[in-house]
Amino acid sequence: MTIQRKIIHVDMDAFFASVEQRDNPDYRDKPLIVGGQPNSRGVVAACSYEAREFGIHSAMSCAQAFKRCPQALFVPPRFEAYREASKLIREIFWCYAVQVEPLSLDEAYLDVTYTESCDGSATKIAQRIKEEILTETGLVASAGVSYNKFLAKIASDMDKPDGLYVVRPEAGEAFVAMLPVKKFYGVGPATEAKLHKQGIYTGKDLHNWSREDLQQVLGRSAEYFYLAARGIDHRPVKSSRVRKSLGKETTFAKDILDIDELLQHATKLAEKVSLQLNAQELMPKTITLKVKYDDFKQVTRSFTRQQPFTNLSDIEVQIPKLLQQTEAGQRAVRLIGLTTSNFDQGEDDQHLSEQLTLGL
Ligand SMILES: [Mg+2]
Repeated sequence: MTIQRKIIHVDMDAFFASVEQRDNPDYRDKPLIVGGQPNSRGVVAACSYEAREFGIHSAMSCAQAFKRCPQALFVPPRFEAYREASKLIREIFWCYAVQVEPLSLDEAYLDVTYTESCDGSATKIAQRIKEEILTETGLVASAGVSYNKFLAKIASDMDKPDGLYVVRPEAGEAFVAMLPVKKFYGVGPATEAKLHKQGIYTGKDLHNWSREDLQQVLGRSAEYFYLAARGIDHRPVKSSRVRKSLGKETTFAKDILDIDELLQHATKLAEKVSLQLNAQELMPKTITLKVKYDDFKQVTRSFTRQQPFTNLSDIEVQIPKLLQQTEAGQRAVRLIGLTTSNFDQGEDDQHLSEQLTLGL
């Protein structure tokens, strides 16, 4: 029996331009172009939805964009700000997915097959992620939900901006049948023309072709199209990194001197961290408590043991001991953090093999 996978593709809407509009009120509700200057040889890196109404799109030359919309605002990119937003978004992804595969700063595939939060509903998870992204970054994302990467990616584009589009397993083939071939991943103008020449305009047309005949037209990519036309895509979601640590921190609205109050906050952090550890089946051997005092000086205290921590109460027991090794209770504290690291390796391998089995 094969397990039905649950894949989400999240894509930020007009990412660079949205960050600029978020950070500068003067840019809001206006055609905005992030990239080169209008009189330069630069290209459009991103543009706001207001600019898109003039037929402007990314990768277009700035000179051409200027012709289409002379009143557009042209601003240089601020990659530092985009990276910062991207980091926050990825942290949210990691709370819900066992595997996160970023495609760029603003786009990623998530495998939520084994996620238990939101009743295990991928649609609810996608909705929750969109909400958290908006709360944490002030930015809007679109999400596509399906049973493989191919369909999830197309789905995220169906309802933009602020979209949430679901392609259920039983609807996969019918969904693909009505897709124009240019929507298929990897189809640029050249391939599109090649397919059109053969009378292949939609997924349905593709479906009518045998493997062998497709091979004559498409060569090595024939197999991909043959399967895609049937709504099939076995590629696993591959994390680009192995998680090395997982933690949470809280900055208090008012500095805290009371040790019991601090303990309560630390315990809450432990609960949150523990939930994520469970969701991702991570078993840390090291716990680190961070305390930042009111003068911004900070200390960390760690505890490592041979046996990995597998439940919350084990972690909770260590917190007062670590807190005692700081000056908390004698000095006002503005922030505490709890980080787990040094994960047990056996579990990672098991995950990987599970992924591979699913992929076959
Ligand atoms: Mg995007």
